[in-house]
Amino acid sequence: MNILYHMPTKVIMGNHCVKNNGTVLTAMGKKALIVTGARSAKMNGSLEDVTVTLSSNGQSFAVYDKVMSNPTVECAYEGAALARAEKADFVIAIGGGSPMDAAKAIALLAVQDISAEKLFAGSYGNEVLPLVLIPTTAGTGSEVTQYSILTNNAARTKTSIATPLLFPKIAFLDARYTEGLSHKTTVNTAIDALSHSVEGMLSNRANAMTDILASDSIRGIASCFAGLKKGELAAEQRERLLYASMLGGMVIANTGTTAVHAMGYSLTYYKDIDHGRANGLLLAAFLKLLEKEIPARVQEILALADCTSVAEFDSQMDQLLGEKEEMTMEEVELYTRTAMKTRNIANCLVVPKAEELEEVYRRSLRIV
Ligand code: NAP
Ligand code: FE
Repeated sequence: MNILYHMPTKVIMGNHCVKNNGTVLTAMGKKALIVTGARSAKMNGSLEDVTVTLSSNGQSFAVYDKVMSNPTVECAYEGAALARAEKADFVIAIGGGSPMDAAKAIALLAVQDISAEKLFAGSYGNEVLPLVLIPTTAGTGSEVTQYSILTNNAARTKTSIATPLLFPKIAFLDARYTEGLSHKTTVNTAIDALSHSVEGMLSNRANAMTDILASDSIRGIASCFAGLKKGELAAEQRERLLYASMLGGMVIANTGTTAVHAMGYSLTYYKDIDHGRANGLLLAAFLKLLEKEIPARVQEILALADCTSVAEFDSQMDQLLGEKEEMTMEEVELYTRTAMKTRNIANCLVVPKAEELEEVYRRSLRIV
């Protein structure tokens, strides 16, 4: 049995976990830069929990609350400039994947001079500010990954900074923060998490340990499909989704994502389709493609999602996602070319050809 598995992040989960375990932050330094989006952290109680905890620890903080969805490279440099100006010792991110990913790039750029041209090159010095991540969506798993995914206008897509330096020191998971999420964001982020775990099982780096995590994650998310469709989730289900999302993060931290994420990035970049939704639109057609080559593996994934066929899985996704977006053949060709250039493609258990990715796009959206 060959296993390569790494997870250096301390995970602390439970209601009120920030306040109940706040003293762990004292080891991080005297001053924090707190990174958030514009609104939600102020409304769901998470920012207050963090600031009260820091204050009672005798630690000071500054807040950078300008992270937009699908954060840009420029946003990361702006946050890093603030971290330098404020002499922050560590970075706390609160929010969905966007503030968490921005915070990782900020923690790197606060202590290393890296030009925008070299930001995605993959070779960095050893310095980074320690990171504490607090997810308030149940989707990206960024709280336990070494990836920061930024909108890369130079390459006209989304690109990841991937380095073990970016593994957070601590992840706090309190599902109460996710209670006020809109129905749309709840569904889209749950599908992102599902996609991480499914793609993890379709990666050539999957192993027995990532399979265990991915299996539990897929089962947990699928058990919430009915609640997700109705827009009614009990607190216990919200917690299950947050847990499943973290497991998905642990999976992709070790397996990477595959063609689905690579193809989804263009749907987000060019068509402004939410990240999780973009993956969800493509997932069933990707499983259909792989069914020819690795039927047993696809069947295993379908069974975990409580489905007996790709068609049933497709119907579940349709019910969750509603009407699909339109796409032209020119877009199919451009997005396929972009996806084929990513590292994700070589990561696939069965490496797809360009014409196969075109077929996945054609099956997934409404071609006009
Ligand atoms: P997001 O862009 O972080 O947030 C989406 C929306 O949800 C924002 O309007 C945000 O508002 C709001 N929101 C967040 N938490 C909320 C809460 N508790 N209650 C109410 N509203 C809330 O969405 P996301 O899907 O979590 O993250 C997507 C990003 O993560 C993409 O850039 C994607 O590429 C990346 N990603 C990263 C990884 C990784 O491993 N690093 C993996 C997958 C995806 P505010 O702006 O006001 O906070
Ligand atoms: Fe994702």
